Amino acid sequence: MNYHILTLFPEMVLDGLNTSIIGRAVSGGKISIEAVNIRDYTKEKHGHVDDAPYGGGAGMVMQAEPVCGAYEALCEKLGKRPRVLYMTPQGQVFNQKIAEELAKEEDLVFLCGHYEGIDERALEMIVTDYLSVGDYVLTGGELPAMVMIDCISRLVPGVLNNDASAEEESFHDNLLEYPQYTRPEIFRGKRVPEVLLSGHHKKIREWRREQSIRRTLERRPDLLENANLDSKEREFLKKLQEEP
Ligand code: SAM
Repeated sequence: MNYHILTLFPEMVLDGLNTSIIGRAVSGGKISIEAVNIRDYTKEKHGHVDDAPYGGGAGMVMQAEPVCGAYEALCEKLGKRPRVLYMTPQGQVFNQKIAEELAKEEDLVFLCGHYEGIDERALEMIVTDYLSVGDYVLTGGELPAMVMIDCISRLVPGVLNNDASAEEESFHDNLLEYPQYTRPEIFRGKRVPEVLLSGHHKKIREWRREQSIRRTLERRPDLLENANLDSKEREFLKKLQEEP
């Protein structure tokens, strides 16, 4: 997977993505992250990339020319026109399912806005997907791009030491993950659930599945509508729902 981030703040995304698991995935060649400075593509004498909005109003708007110029130079270098994801509070809210779909691409371009956003004409010309991290407004698209790159990268084969771990996590099957415990067995009087110490894999699997269902019902009942449950699990859920 090759990520190309179009931004006015390349150091912000590169510094943020260069540590821990994602940093190791880059040095191990599993993914590559390139930041393209939109400012390098301005044709303005003083290096301006933004201007006041037509029609008036607060703030500045990023101009179309440097944004399109940065993308076109990238396409020329790559010899193809990859998908362009515009980070915007007006987009579809990003989730695990979208991450799974995006993880199949070879190249992804993340377009980060700043100030009041980007001239609509540039968006119409190059953007293929409008994506948001949630119903709130941030100062720029860099943090959303980092969030999405982190999430998508975990699904790229070889990025996690244990690929199975991504399959058991929250949102897989539309369920939240079961509670996790590690040493010591007793912490301030609280014991690890007995079944986890039993070494009985089938029982552990069943207990975890039930915990996932219970937790999803308590914290994110909206997910259960599309959860992938067998008949025994549906029965278990029904009982939970009937509990006072
Ligand atoms: N004026 C825009 C509006 O009302 O839709 C908001 C602009 S915001 C201050 C500046 C930039 O931050 C946006 O162009 C976008 O790239 C990014 N941004 C802000 N909130 C975001 C969110 N929830 N998800 C993704 N990107 C966001």
